[in-house]
Amino acid sequence: MGCELLCCRLFVPLSLEEMAAGLQTQSPLSNLLRQEPDGFCCYLDRATRRCTIWQRRPLVCRRYNCNDDPKLQVVLREGFTSFGRLIEQSKLIPRDRWQSIPLLSRSPAGEVKRGRRRASGRRTKKTPAE
Ligand code: SF4
Repeated sequence: MGCELLCCRLFVPLSLEEMAAGLQTQSPLSNLLRQEPDGFCCYLDRATRRCTIWQRRPLVCRRYNCNDDPKLQVVLREGFTSFGRLIEQSKLIPRDRWQSIPLLSRSPAGEVKRGRRRASGRRTKKTPAE
Protein backbone atom coordinates (compact mmCIF):
# COMPACT_ATOMS: atom_id res chain seq x y z
CA MET A 1 0.00 0.00 0.00
CA GLY A 2 1.27 3.47 -0.81
CA CYS A 3 -0.24 6.92 -1.12
CA GLU A 4 -0.33 9.85 -3.50
CA LEU A 5 3.15 10.85 -2.25
CA LEU A 6 2.11 14.40 -1.53
CA CYS A 7 4.15 14.71 1.66
CA CYS A 8 7.31 13.17 0.19
CA ARG A 9 7.66 16.43 -1.78
CA LEU A 10 7.56 18.70 1.28
CA PHE A 11 10.65 20.06 3.04
CA VAL A 12 11.89 17.77 5.81
CA PRO A 13 14.20 19.46 8.33
CA LEU A 14 16.69 17.12 9.98
CA SER A 15 18.07 17.16 13.50
CA LEU A 16 21.82 17.32 14.09
CA GLU A 17 21.72 13.64 15.09
CA GLU A 18 19.97 12.67 11.84
CA MET A 19 22.54 14.61 9.80
CA ALA A 20 25.37 13.01 11.77
CA ALA A 21 23.81 9.60 11.07
CA GLY A 22 24.36 10.25 7.38
CA LEU A 23 20.95 11.25 6.02
CA GLN A 24 21.54 13.28 2.87
CA THR A 25 20.86 17.02 2.88
CA GLN A 26 20.19 19.54 0.11
CA SER A 27 23.71 20.93 0.49
CA PRO A 28 26.51 20.84 3.06
CA LEU A 29 25.07 23.99 4.67
CA SER A 30 21.45 22.85 4.69
CA ASN A 31 19.54 20.85 7.29
CA LEU A 32 16.82 19.90 4.78
CA LEU A 33 16.53 16.32 3.56
CA ARG A 34 17.77 16.09 -0.03
CA GLN A 35 15.14 16.24 -2.75
CA GLU A 36 15.55 15.22 -6.37
CA PRO A 37 15.19 17.96 -9.03
CA ASP A 38 11.48 17.12 -9.41
CA GLY A 39 10.93 17.72 -5.70
CA PHE A 40 10.56 14.13 -4.49
CA CYS A 41 12.58 12.95 -1.50
CA CYS A 42 15.82 11.20 -2.50
CA TYR A 43 14.85 8.21 -0.32
CA LEU A 44 11.58 7.51 -2.09
CA ASP A 45 11.53 4.38 -4.26
CA ARG A 46 9.51 5.49 -7.28
CA ALA A 47 8.70 1.96 -8.41
CA THR A 48 7.27 0.74 -5.10
CA ARG A 49 6.20 4.20 -3.85
CA ARG A 50 7.78 3.34 -0.52
CA CYS A 51 10.34 4.94 1.75
CA THR A 52 13.71 3.16 1.43
CA ILE A 53 14.81 4.23 4.93
CA TRP A 54 11.53 3.51 6.74
CA GLN A 55 13.20 2.09 9.86
CA ARG A 56 15.43 5.16 10.24
CA ARG A 57 13.30 7.85 8.60
CA PRO A 58 13.52 11.34 10.12
CA LEU A 59 11.45 12.28 13.16
CA VAL A 60 9.50 14.79 11.05
CA CYS A 61 8.37 11.94 8.77
CA ARG A 62 7.44 9.79 11.79
CA ARG A 63 5.29 12.47 13.37
CA TYR A 64 3.71 13.96 10.26
CA ASN A 65 0.05 13.19 9.60
CA CYS A 66 -0.99 14.11 6.07
CA ASN A 67 -4.63 14.32 7.14
CA ASP A 68 -3.81 17.03 9.63
CA ASP A 69 -1.99 19.40 7.26
CA PRO A 70 -3.96 22.28 5.71
CA LYS A 71 -1.28 22.75 3.01
CA LEU A 72 -2.19 19.42 1.44
CA GLN A 73 -5.79 20.60 1.14
CA VAL A 74 -4.51 23.19 -1.32
CA VAL A 75 -2.47 20.56 -3.20
CA LEU A 76 -5.57 18.37 -3.52
CA ARG A 77 -7.54 21.25 -5.02
CA GLU A 78 -4.90 23.06 -7.10
CA GLY A 79 -1.87 20.79 -7.34
CA PHE A 80 1.51 21.87 -6.06
CA THR A 81 2.54 25.36 -7.10
CA SER A 82 4.80 26.88 -4.46
CA PHE A 83 5.23 26.74 -0.70
CA GLY A 84 4.29 30.42 -0.39
CA ARG A 85 0.99 29.75 -2.10
CA LEU A 86 0.39 26.64 0.02
CA ILE A 87 0.77 28.59 3.24
CA GLU A 88 -1.37 31.49 2.01
CA GLN A 89 -4.20 29.41 0.55
CA SER A 90 -4.30 26.79 3.29
CA LYS A 91 -5.56 29.41 5.78
CA LEU A 92 -8.67 29.91 3.64
CA ILE A 93 -10.03 26.34 3.70
CA PRO A 94 -12.19 25.66 6.80
CA ARG A 95 -11.49 22.33 8.53
CA ASP A 96 -15.02 21.08 7.92
CA ARG A 97 -14.41 21.37 4.15
CA TRP A 98 -11.19 19.30 4.19
CA GLN A 99 -10.94 16.30 1.86
CA SER A 100 -9.40 13.04 2.98
CA ILE A 101 -5.99 12.27 1.46
CA PRO A 102 -6.31 9.55 -1.22
CA LEU A 103 -4.58 6.23 -0.65
CA LEU A 104 -3.23 3.98 -3.34
CA SER A 105 -2.98 0.23 -3.04
CA ARG A 106 -1.79 -2.42 -5.43
CA SER A 107 -3.67 -5.53 -6.42
CA PRO A 108 -1.74 -8.82 -6.46
CA ALA A 109 -1.36 -8.23 -10.22
CA GLY A 110 0.36 -4.91 -9.52
CA GLU A 111 -2.49 -2.60 -10.57
CA VAL A 112 -2.70 0.66 -8.62
CA LYS A 113 -6.09 1.21 -6.96
CA ARG A 114 -7.32 4.38 -5.35
CA GLY A 115 -8.98 4.38 -1.95
CA ARG A 116 -10.09 7.06 0.48
CA ARG A 117 -9.18 7.64 4.05
CA ARG A 118 -11.17 9.49 6.68
CA ALA A 119 -9.80 12.80 7.91
CA SER A 120 -8.83 10.88 11.07
CA GLY A 121 -6.26 9.00 8.97
CA ARG A 122 -8.09 5.64 8.94
CA ARG A 123 -9.17 4.06 5.69
CA THR A 124 -12.82 4.00 4.84
CA LYS A 125 -14.49 0.77 3.83
CA LYS A 126 -13.93 -0.15 0.21
CA THR A 127 -16.90 -0.17 -2.08
CA PRO A 128 -17.56 -3.36 -4.08
CA ALA A 129 -16.37 -1.56 -7.23
CA GLU A 130 -12.88 -1.16 -5.71
S1 SF4 B 1 12.41 9.89 4.33
FE1 SF4 B 1 10.87 8.45 3.63
S2 SF4 B 1 8.94 9.11 4.61
FE2 SF4 B 1 10.41 10.82 4.76
S3 SF4 B 1 9.98 12.11 2.95
FE3 SF4 B 1 11.62 10.66 2.38
S4 SF4 B 1 10.57 8.90 1.44
FE4 SF4 B 1 9.02 10.10 2.57
